[in-house]
Amino acid sequence: MPPLVEVVDLRKQFVLSGNRWGEKLTVDAVSGVSLTIFQGETLGLVGETGCGKSTLARCILRLVEPTGGRVLFEGKDILSLSLRDFHPYRRRMQMVFQDPFASLNPRKTVFAILEEPLIIHGERNLRIRREKVEAIAERVGLDVRLLRNYPHEFSGGQRQRIGIARALILEPEFVVCDEPVSALDVSIRAQILNLLCDLQESLRLSYLFIAHDLSVVRYISHRVAVMYLGKIVEIAPCEELFANPLHPYTRALLAALPVPDPSRPWKRMLLEGDPPSPLRPPSGCRFHTRCPERMDICAVYPPGAFFLNPEHVVFCHLYGGWEMV
Ligand code: SF4
Repeated sequence: MPPLVEVVDLRKQFVLSGNRWGEKLTVDAVSGVSLTIFQGETLGLVGETGCGKSTLARCILRLVEPTGGRVLFEGKDILSLSLRDFHPYRRRMQMVFQDPFASLNPRKTVFAILEEPLIIHGERNLRIRREKVEAIAERVGLDVRLLRNYPHEFSGGQRQRIGIARALILEPEFVVCDEPVSALDVSIRAQILNLLCDLQESLRLSYLFIAHDLSVVRYISHRVAVMYLGKIVEIAPCEELFANPLHPYTRALLAALPVPDPSRPWKRMLLEGDPPSPLRPPSGCRFHTRCPERMDICAVYPPGAFFLNPEHVVFCHLYGGWEMV
C-alpha cells in the first residue's frame, strides 16, 4: 500500500539578520528529513524542544514554505503546486495546535470558529454549515447548546475538543497533532488521547503526532520517529523502539522515563551538556558532542542509514550504515 504522505529530503533554513560584520546567519531547522505516513496510521515524532519537530510539521502542511525537498500527498508533490492549486489539498491536511486557548479567536463564538473553515472553503449554505458544526461538536463530545459561548467559557479539555473539531470539520485525511495534550491537566490527557484514537478508527485518519512525552507517544503511535537537531536519527514500530532502541540518543530518552516498579532498578543515562546551537550544528554526526559512545569517525562523517529490518532504521556509525545523508 503506498503511503498517504511521503516526505523526501525536506529542508528548512531560516535566514536571520546579519551579525556585526554583515554576514547573514542561517539556522538549519530541518535538514534532509525523509519519512512516510500510511492511511490510518499514527507516526509519533519525538525529540527535545527546539529540535525542529514543529517546523517539520508546518513545512509538511505548507504553513511554512520549505527550502528544499518534496512532500508527496497520495503521490502528488504538493510543494510544486501554486497556492491556488494547493487550496483543495489544504482541507485534506489539518492541524491541532498545542495551546487550545491561544489558537482560538477569543472574540468569536465557538459556532463562528467552527463554521469559519467551511466558509473559507466555499460552503455558502447556512443550514448545511449549522448541521456540520453541530455534527462535529457532538462527535468530539461538546454540548451543542454551548456553541454560542466564547472560548474563555470552556475548560482546557473542552477547548482542545473545539480545536480538534475545527481541524476535523473539513473531513481531512491527514492531521498533524502538535503536542495536543502537553498544555492539559494529566487527568484530561487520557480523555483527549482516547478521543483522538476513536476518531482515527471511525474516520480512518492518519496522524503525525508530535510530543516530547514518550509515554504519550507510546500510547497513541504505531511507529515512532526520533529527531535530533533537525535530523531523524531513528524510526521504528512503536513497541520495537521501546524494546530495542538502537541510537544512543533514543536510549538516553528512554532511560529518562521513570520505571513504575520499585523492585526494578532505574538506571538513568544522563546526556552531557545542552543541545548544540542550530546556528552552528556539529560536524559529522550532530549528536557526537553529547554521545557517550562517540568514535573518531563520528565528528567527521555523517552516519548513513542502517536497516535492522525494513521498518527499523537508525542513523549511527555504531551499526555501519552505508547510505550517506
Ligand atoms: Fe554516537 Fe557516533 Fe552514533 Fe553519533 S554516530 S550517535 S556520535 S556513536
